[in-house]
Amino acid sequence: MMPAAFIGHGSPMNALETNRYSQAWRAFGQSAPTPRAILMVSAHWYINATAVTAMERPRTIHDFYGFPPELFAVRYEAPGLPELADEIAEAVKPTWVGADMDSWGIDHGAWSVLVHAFPDASIPVVQLAINAYATLDYHLELGARLSSLRERGVLIVGSGNIVHNLAAMNPGYRDNGFDWAQRFDDAARTQLLDDPAAAVRLSGHRDFGASAPTPDHFIPVLYFAGLAAQGGAVEVLTDGCAYGSLSMTSYTLSG
Ligand code: ZN
Repeated sequence: MMPAAFIGHGSPMNALETNRYSQAWRAFGQSAPTPRAILMVSAHWYINATAVTAMERPRTIHDFYGFPPELFAVRYEAPGLPELADEIAEAVKPTWVGADMDSWGIDHGAWSVLVHAFPDASIPVVQLAINAYATLDYHLELGARLSSLRERGVLIVGSGNIVHNLAAMNPGYRDNGFDWAQRFDDAARTQLLDDPAAAVRLSGHRDFGASAPTPDHFIPVLYFAGLAAQGGAVEVLTDGCAYGSLSMTSYTLSG
């Protein structure tokens, strides 16, 4: 059974930095058996449909502004795996999933992690879009249905942030979280370790509104929770908050 992960990716600058988060991502990549393909559920492909990338050569997407040229120069030239789109469509039936041939590629939610976890870019990468119209339950259930792919050598990685409130960020809190951010991160940890099948309950937590003012960075954790609800052991890969309102906590699922 291939492991799975949820990674708190944080700032795109983590792609260029070596820090305790990037080191944890590297350790995860090294500890995993070599996957046939990597399926990324990135916060940054948030559209009005459920779709997967299905091109032979996905492009590296630089979907951010105001960062140094070195970051725009990063290329992650992993191949795609077009036939995986068919396997995913089969696995998630009766949910319909479209095959994207030319609109997306590999975004920074994916490559900022992959440059550390799988630095040689030799393993095919496919992205699954987050359907912005769907309910939180839909995402958890879709995650659960993807579980069979783990038996077929596919490493599934959700990439977002459990707490992601850019408007509230404070540089004075470089390696810390505000009380509410830490509280929500702790609640998410208890939920994922004890009862991942009910992870949607986190949306009723009193700090959910501040922690996920938009749901895009939170939803990837629901895919991980859906997978974990099918069985296996959840562990914390690394944890902590940054800039007050960003959780960098990451999880792995094994067995
Ligand atoms: Zn992000």
